[in-house]
Amino acid sequence: MGPYVTLFVLLALLAGLTVGKAWERYKLRDGRWIDRRRARESPHYMLGLNFLVANQIDPAIEELSIAADAAGHPLEIHLILGNLYREKGQVGRAIQEHQSLLQRPNLRKLEHANVLLCLGLDYKRGGFVDRALEAFSEVLRLDPDNRYAMSNLEKLYEEQHQWTDAYAMRQKLASEDGVSQKPRHQEILAFLENEIGVAALKRSEHAEAARRFGAAIDLDQKNAPAYLNLGDVMVAQGDRAAAIETWEKLINTSPDRAYLAYSRLEQGYADLNEPARFPALCRRLIAANPQEWRARLALARYLTSHDGASDALELLFEALAINPHALAIHQGIWETLTALRLPPALVNRYIVLARESIFYVDPHICVRCRYRSTELLWQCPQCHEWNTFVEERIAPAKDTEASLTT
Ligand SMILES: [Zn+2]
Repeated sequence: MGPYVTLFVLLALLAGLTVGKAWERYKLRDGRWIDRRRARESPHYMLGLNFLVANQIDPAIEELSIAADAAGHPLEIHLILGNLYREKGQVGRAIQEHQSLLQRPNLRKLEHANVLLCLGLDYKRGGFVDRALEAFSEVLRLDPDNRYAMSNLEKLYEEQHQWTDAYAMRQKLASEDGVSQKPRHQEILAFLENEIGVAALKRSEHAEAARRFGAAIDLDQKNAPAYLNLGDVMVAQGDRAAAIETWEKLINTSPDRAYLAYSRLEQGYADLNEPARFPALCRRLIAANPQEWRARLALARYLTSHDGASDALELLFEALAINPHALAIHQGIWETLTALRLPPALVNRYIVLARESIFYVDPHICVRCRYRSTELLWQCPQCHEWNTFVEERIAPAKDTEASLTT
């Protein structure tokens, strides 16, 4: 049970509280009047909430069930109980709980919407995508401004690759927010626009795809995949020069993502019979950012294949000092050392450099707050938790050749 769920349960509670109006404090049940408000005064109710806050689901269910029983089964407690069953993984039980609430007579519109929202979350959790879509859509019909329903619908559409529907939902979310939230919405809309373009590309609709990628870039100048894809479409349309221009724009707008375009640009320059533009680009990037290990790696690869293995090795040693965790650098070094026939002095330099670098990169990390340290600590200086440090392992394939060629 994550913080999101706790938050949701509490919000459901608040919704219940605001929905419950004073004049509906009393309710006739089984021939006697029950004070609905008393539910919240019950010790079982408070205990249940306390367990809930402490993420102890089973005792929370137990106490809230007693409280519900004592207070004439108010809707909001059963709403929470259903949510708790869902969190426990008992989706069937959650659905049953929430569906039975729908059978109640005289449900007000907002109550109805709340129940459907919870039911939608049950369906989503259980993998019943169509029913979840239906439930969330119904919530929006009853409560057109319901952001939970909107963002859940957006996520479901994304999972189903219904990018146009997801886009519409994100626009709806954006339209309710102020200017401060706009960049974040634009960023997401750009990714969705890019996906619509990718789908068009798969259908070989090049013009439509290019239009979508262009629109994604208009929405967010930093949307890297849109530049890459737009360039690919331009190559497919036979305009290599325009493609190169587009990829170079990516490098200008997002230098930290420049490496995504390296292999494309290297190929593109070679096809234009101007291969020297690639090492020149790498050198510019290195000059602009001394920490640019990927440009060094790319330049080293280029040099190795153009009779410049010695210079390549120096670049790789520099790259290693910047990011000793990158497997691709170690591979590059061994390839280049092998091409140079393993001169013992250089092999030794590599060994010393690698040992010192890895020590330098703070391999100990707090699993709780991600604080980094060069040495193993027993208490984290940032979050003050005990015994939370692990040695970070090198992530497989993250910085390897695969990511350079995508
Ligand atoms: Zn920590």
